[in-house]
Order: sequence, then C-alpha cells, then structure tokens
Amino acid sequence: MSEPSIFTRIMNGEIPADKVYEDDDCICIKDIAPKAPVHLLLIPRKPIPRLVDATAEDQALLGKLMVKAGEIAREHNVGDAFRLVINNGEEVGQTVFHLHLHILGGKLFTEAELGL
Ligand code: AMP
Repeated sequence: MSEPSIFTRIMNGEIPADKVYEDDDCICIKDIAPKAPVHLLLIPRKPIPRLVDATAEDQALLGKLMVKAGEIAREHNVGDAFRLVINNGEEVGQTVFHLHLHILGGKLFTEAELGL
C-alpha cells in the first residue's frame, strides 16, 4: 500500500487545512501557496492518483466535481471568470498524486500563462 496522500491526511483531520466545502464525495480547501486571489483545490475523497487513472466507474464522480467547481466558483464571486486546472503527471507540474482540480480566479490570465 502506498502512503496516504497529503490530501487524504487533510481529509482524515491529521493535517489542518482551510476547508471551504465538503460532502461525502469531495472536499474543497484553499491552496496553501495561492497563485491567484482565489485558488481552491477540489479533491475527491477517493484517492485517484492522476486523472488518467480514473475509469468509467469514476464517471459520475468526475461529473460531480465539474458541477461542484462551478458552484464553488460562483460562491467565491468568480463564477464569470475562473480557470479550472488539472495537472496530470510530474512533467507538467503535478506534485500531489491524489486527483485535484485547481479553481483559479480573481486575476487576469493570458493565453500563454496557464495559471500554475
Ligand atoms: P499540483 O502541483 O497540481 O499537484 O498541485 C498541488 C497543490 O497542492 C499545490 O498548488 C500546493 O500549493 C497545494 N498544497 C500542497 N500541500 C498543501 C496543503 N497542506 N494545504 C493546501 N494546499 C496544499
């Protein structure tokens, strides 16, 4: 068994985090090193390491995360302009191998700048 991810440890209450939302399927926390005025991480409780590791079984969960990301963005007043980022793999900057969606808003992003 691999070590629990830092996000699993946050979900288990072992590590503190600034939680803005949680339900039976996911939690949303403030990123510890924000790259934008609004920088949230929406994380499924299921420890899927990377997006590419998700299967058809995860389809409803992934759909829920997308809808939830929109709701949370709206609640944080960036519903009209936010960026959703998933890093898949170390080479593109994934550092925590537990699937998470970055919700980034409150600043202008250029096309060239992906936000992370
Ligand atoms: P990624 O590079 O896509 O894997 O994103 C991982 C993100 O998790 C980074 O933006 C980190 O700043 C963030 N992060 C790491 N540890 C914590 C933590 N303890 N609480 C909140 N965010 C964290």
